[in-house]
Amino acid sequence: MSRTISKILLGIGAWVGVLIGYLAIQMTTPSPEKTAAKCGENMKKVAQSLEKYKQEKNGYPMRLGQLGSDLPTCPFNGEQYSYGYAGGSSSGLASSFTISCATAHKLEVGSTSRP
Ligand SMILES: [Zn+2]
Repeated sequence: MSRTISKILLGIGAWVGVLIGYLAIQMTTPSPEKTAAKCGENMKKVAQSLEKYKQEKNGYPMRLGQLGSDLPTCPFNGEQYSYGYAGGSSSGLASSFTISCATAHKLEVGSTSRP
């Protein structure tokens, strides 16, 4: 009789363990929605840096690297955002830009002023 009870308790204990493990993974792994929101925030930060660059130099850079090396990246894979620009190749400054997270989130942020 007591052996049956201890077997049942052991079974319950195992399931509780599995459940706790599952919940721990759920809590430590950010949801895709949260990662996408963070990605959007990071892109806005890069866009703000680009707008600041424009205020100082009167145009956008032609490479993201011209802003410095510690730019926010996509939180999903840590990849730097793709940078596209238009206009002004002779001056070394662009007149508009787009930043996109092409791999995970398909998000895009563009310049406030367009040519
Ligand atoms: Zn992303």
